[in-house]
Amino acid sequence: VFLTFEGIDGSGKSTQCRTLAETLKSHGHEVVLTREPGGSAGAEEIRRLVLEGDPDRWSAETELLLFTAARRDHMERTILPALRAGKVVICDRFADSTRMYQGLSRGDLRGAVDQLHALMIGREPDLTLLIDMDPEVGLARAKGRQTAEERFEDFGLELQQKMRAGFLSLAQEFEGRFRVVNGARDMAAVAQEITALVTDFLAT
Ligand code: C5P
Repeated sequence: VFLTFEGIDGSGKSTQCRTLAETLKSHGHEVVLTREPGGSAGAEEIRRLVLEGDPDRWSAETELLLFTAARRDHMERTILPALRAGKVVICDRFADSTRMYQGLSRGDLRGAVDQLHALMIGREPDLTLLIDMDPEVGLARAKGRQTAEERFEDFGLELQQKMRAGFLSLAQEFEGRFRVVNGARDMAAVAQEITALVTDFLAT
């Protein structure tokens, strides 16, 4: 089973991924916790190429190709082998982040994102948890852990508002696999709702 988490920067995705992984392990599932960009040796190298250094080094189109290459490697080396072995894969961001960040924020590349996805990735998650919250809350959290190389977290409030709206419309576009969770609550309450949603999903 392939589960992904999506949401704006600072929405608490990474914490919720870890918590869910621990919970599912305690329920006896074999779990692989991974992330994008990254999640395999090659994809982590590409992550560094894209996220570190000069933010204008790559055009939007080249960046999309790099993210797609990273995802392909991540699928081949990490995700598909784990799914074939019957494990639960939890991924912190996946193709929906590319639909948003490369498809929306840097030129309108959404058509290209979808074509590349169909051609080179070809697999959607079984379930996607969108942690939704006001960007002002998310931005305050993200700034608290900002590192120099993670240039993308410098997104201003306006762009984050656009991202939030974009993620919510993706949730409608792919409503079969999306569940929207209110992330503007304490971590434990959010985790509890996610556990209930995922337990339900795994039972069906
Ligand atoms: O999820 P995480 O905070 O590790 O992501 C690092 C940064 O990479 C994010 O701030 C996000 O803005 C950016 N990103 C991106 N395109 C993606 C995935 C992440 O620009 N497809």
